Amino acid sequence: MTTALIIGGGIGGLTMALALRCAGIEPLVHEAYDRPDDYVGSFLNTASNGLDALRAIGVDLTRHVDGVPIPRMVLSSGSGKRLGEVANGTRLPDGSVSVCVRRGELQRALRAQVRASGIPLVFGKRLDTYRTLPTGVVARFTDGTEASGDLLVGADGIHSRTRALLHPDAPAPRFTGLLSVGGYSEGTGLAPTTDTQHLVFGKRAFFGYLVRESGETYWFANLHRPDEPDRRDLAAMTTDRWRRHLAALFADDTPVIGRVLDHLVGEIGAYPVYDIPTSPVWHRGPAALIGDAVHATSPSAGQGASMAIEDAVVLAQCLRDAPDTTTAYTTYERLRRPRVEKVVAYSRTLSNSKTAGPVARVLRDLMMPVALRYFANPASHAWMYDHHIDWDRPVAA
Ligand SMILES: Cc1cc2nc3c(=O)[nH]c(=O)nc-3n(C[C@H](O)[C@H](O)[C@H](O)COP(=O)(O)OP(=O)(O)OC[C@H]3O[C@@H](n4cnc5c(N)ncnc54)[C@H](O)[C@@H]3O)c2cc1C
Repeated sequence: MTTALIIGGGIGGLTMALALRCAGIEPLVHEAYDRPDDYVGSFLNTASNGLDALRAIGVDLTRHVDGVPIPRMVLSSGSGKRLGEVANGTRLPDGSVSVCVRRGELQRALRAQVRASGIPLVFGKRLDTYRTLPTGVVARFTDGTEASGDLLVGADGIHSRTRALLHPDAPAPRFTGLLSVGGYSEGTGLAPTTDTQHLVFGKRAFFGYLVRESGETYWFANLHRPDEPDRRDLAAMTTDRWRRHLAALFADDTPVIGRVLDHLVGEIGAYPVYDIPTSPVWHRGPAALIGDAVHATSPSAGQGASMAIEDAVVLAQCLRDAPDTTTAYTTYERLRRPRVEKVVAYSRTLSNSKTAGPVARVLRDLMMPVALRYFANPASHAWMYDHHIDWDRPVAA
């Protein structure tokens, strides 16, 4: 039986393992962290197209995660003026909609599926290098151990080591000019925002939040940063300093934000946002890339996890149906590249609209209700959300 070395046990790598098993290929997952990284520092949107792609390989995520169904997003200005609303995905035939879920929770659920399938998943295996043999590939890890297989899939995220080895001249991830900060609050007294995530174009920064039926509030803020922040500076920011900084940034906006910030629980996480608009090389010899490793997207479109999931399912189909690995990889790239590059570009446009100067802000608040009437039409986003993968249908090379 063909064996595949998967580098990275994140959202893409775990889905890859499950999809390969369905395709009759034996996966072996290697994760750099010493143990499961179920930190709860941020949450993400698993869009309806990502849920649908998981169902193609028999995984009904909505049954396995503690997620918050979010079929719509309401947009308002910092003053609280409602600008309009947009759909967050489409409703699947059984009624499921996109869910917001803590990243660690999503990984835990996928890992449980991998374990239940008996797929080997080893921690503490950070890829150092790999070499190609006439019969396959040998991966070497930083702890000095090796693993061999017929092929290798790099699912090792935005700062992918596999990408650096496969294509040393690959363009570096691009800083988008945004810093994403987020966390959780409790006891805000705000009413549950059932089915809805609120997005606020504040005077100085962008804020998003949802309130669960329990009262727990998930929130994030996007701050404009012309220069790439130094990681040491970010690491030095305490939660209390962040809270004071955010309170000052949003002081002139709707008081709802102040209430969320006054009732924080746990730590605030902060991440510079990068994307990779295009990667010239997706595969070489026995190795291929999926997910953030090859096309990271900024989080504004809420599609990063879903794109990694779709990649994994389509690559497994290609490996199942193609006569050889090279044909499988070429077909995979042909099927995926146009879609993911369109999503990355679209998300970048949304990111750019989040921070505007005073003049642009006035224009935006005037124009947005008109624009949103177009975007509120489900057909305007059908290309992104209505993507369906038919697992049983053979993939043509
Ligand atoms: C703040 C923030 C908010 C986001 N919000 C959203 C959202 O709302 N919706 C959405 O869909 N996406 C969102 N994303 C993006 C989403 O998290 C990623 O797109 C998604 O996780 C990509 O999956 P992946 O498997 O490609 O990479 P990852 O999930 O990053 O997994 C990569 C894995 O590889 C491991 N690894 C790294 N190097 C090595 C190595 N050398 N050897 C072995 N293992 C290695 C890492 O430890 C990690 O476990 C957000 C991201 C951030 C930072």
